[in-house]
Parts: sequence; structure tokens; C-alpha cells
Amino acid sequence: MKTRIPAAVVAVALLVVLVAATKPARLDLAKARVVDLTHPFDEKTIYWPNSPSSFKLTKLADGATEGGYYYRMNSFCAPEHGGTHLDAPSHFAKDGWAADQIPLSKLVAPAVLLDISKQSAADPDYRLSVEDVRAWENRHGPIPAGSVVLLRTGWSSRWPDRKRYLGDDTTGATDKLHFPSFGKESASLLVRERKVAGLGLDAASIDYGQSRDFIVHQIANGANVPGLENLANLDPVPETGAWIVALPMKIAGGSGGPLRAIALVP
Ligand SMILES: [Zn+2]
Repeated sequence: MKTRIPAAVVAVALLVVLVAATKPARLDLAKARVVDLTHPFDEKTIYWPNSPSSFKLTKLADGATEGGYYYRMNSFCAPEHGGTHLDAPSHFAKDGWAADQIPLSKLVAPAVLLDISKQSAADPDYRLSVEDVRAWENRHGPIPAGSVVLLRTGWSSRWPDRKRYLGDDTTGATDKLHFPSFGKESASLLVRERKVAGLGLDAASIDYGQSRDFIVHQIANGANVPGLENLANLDPVPETGAWIVALPMKIAGGSGGPLRAIALVP
């Protein structure tokens, strides 16, 4: 005999699921675990293969002074895009927000984590698919508007081995890069329909290594959605319930910049 579930019960159950899914994640800061999502900046920091320079720390002072106290100071120099960093919307959109113009609500936000590390291990050119997003949503409900999507590819375990991380370590050449990322259709779904606040991942770019048109950059930055690239340590971040705090250096007019990103994990 078949048990029939009244339509009203189904409707209420669906509503509960939807409300639960779209409600912003509440987090008890006092009990949250703080996870560092940032690679250190040093001489090993990976920059794009055609980047004209990399991270440089120059000693300006280090030692005892005539005043009797110890004193140390360095200067640093680096391109905006390299290491753990922000892609401001102005990176790929003429009228997009620069690094100093991005509302902080886009950079301090609930995080959802999508894991493509298995697919990426089998195929370094893997791109997040719409089906991957739907599979996540089947478990947790629709990805809430205003959340930052973190993509775990597993690639941060290859840092800072340039050849393994980028797929190629030829200086100046970008045609042989291989690493996973978001895909055109999934980015379009996340940005245009789910209205996410940001796209981040533990690989070098929000476009995969073989991209020639940087379509995910165009889609995201074109909608004033920033990117967070070369994140570290996404393993402890759960699929839902965490928050991300991703605060870049506030470079006036910057197209991006070095980023200190952390996750607050319940
Ligand atoms: Zn970038």
C-alpha cells in the first residue's frame, strides 16, 4: 500500500528547507576556529608566468641603534596579482570597483565550499560544472545570495612548486598552464542567478589554466564580483556554516592586491 503525503505537508517541508538554506549562517565568534587561508609572501611566492617581477623584501634597517634600542624595518615590492590575492572587479571590468571601493560586506561574508578535488586529481583541466553546483544544492539548498563561494581543488598542496601548481614553469609562457577552476556555465549560475558576493579558490586563477578568454573573470568582474586566488588551507572549511574574512591591502585604484584571508569555522 502506498502512503500518500499531503501536498500541504510537502509544501511546508520545502519551505523549511528553503528558509534554512537562505538564512545567513549564524556564527558564535567566541567559539569559532580561525583558519588561515593565506600563503606567506616570500621569494617562493608564485606570480603569473609573464609577470614582470615578483615579491621582494628589502632590508632598510636591522640592528642596535645609537639610542640603545633595537630597530628593524623593510620595504617590499610586489605586483598586485600573485600569492594569495584579490582580483578587484576593475581587473577585468572598465567601470568595476577598484580594490579600495569594494564594499566590505563582499569581503566579510558567509562562505560555502564546493569540492572538486577528486575530479581535479583525475583531470587538471577540470572546471566546476553546473551539475557540481546542483549536487551541492541537493544537499544544502540553494547557495545563498551574498555568500562567497570557495572552490577546493586540492591544488594548494602543490604550493610553492611552480611546475606542479601551474602545470608549467616556463618563464613568460602561459600556453602550457594546467590547473582546475570554475567553468563558464557554473560561474554564470553562481554570479547571475545565485548573486554570490565573491568567487575564491586554492588554485592560481578563477579561470582554468588553459583559458584563453578568461571568461569567468569577465563574468564575475563584469558583475562587480571580486575573485580570491591562491587561497591556502581550504581543507578545514566545511561545505556550509563558515564565514570568510578576506581583507586585501587597500590600494587606492588597485586592480587587486595582496590578501590576508581567514575562515571562521564553527
Ligand atoms: Zn589575480
